Amino acid sequence: MARQKKSEREYVFRRAQGRCEFCRSPAAFAHQSFSLEHIRPRSRQGKESPANLALSCQGCNNHKYNRTKARDPVSNEEVRLFHPRRDRWAFHLAWTDDATQILGLTAIGRATVEALQLNRVALVNLRRVLVEAGEHPPSEG
Ligand SMILES: [Zn+2]
Repeated sequence: MARQKKSEREYVFRRAQGRCEFCRSPAAFAHQSFSLEHIRPRSRQGKESPANLALSCQGCNNHKYNRTKARDPVSNEEVRLFHPRRDRWAFHLAWTDDATQILGLTAIGRATVEALQLNRVALVNLRRVLVEAGEHPPSEG
């Protein structure tokens, strides 16, 4: 794994406001440090630049792996995954009323919820506690 420059990591972290750009969980409440996810994998000529990097929790990073596409569970068609640099989170994804689960609003959103398992049990439990603490959901979506 290539070592990222400290300034680049800080830039990506700040840009993401310290939250995973897929499941939106805050790094401040994670027990593992977050990764700089290559949206387009290096194995597929993805660049090592901030335009191709997203702040990601370990769970989302592991589930995404080197994928850029997945099946929409409704249409069963293969679509591209949510792209944090090109897509708006709130266009493709939304919180349930109690803010503990993420819903896919579009084919891309639904495929991303499934592929990255954005409603993992530990995430749902964390969101429940963060709602109680007034730390969730994030105001920006
Ligand atoms: Zn995540």
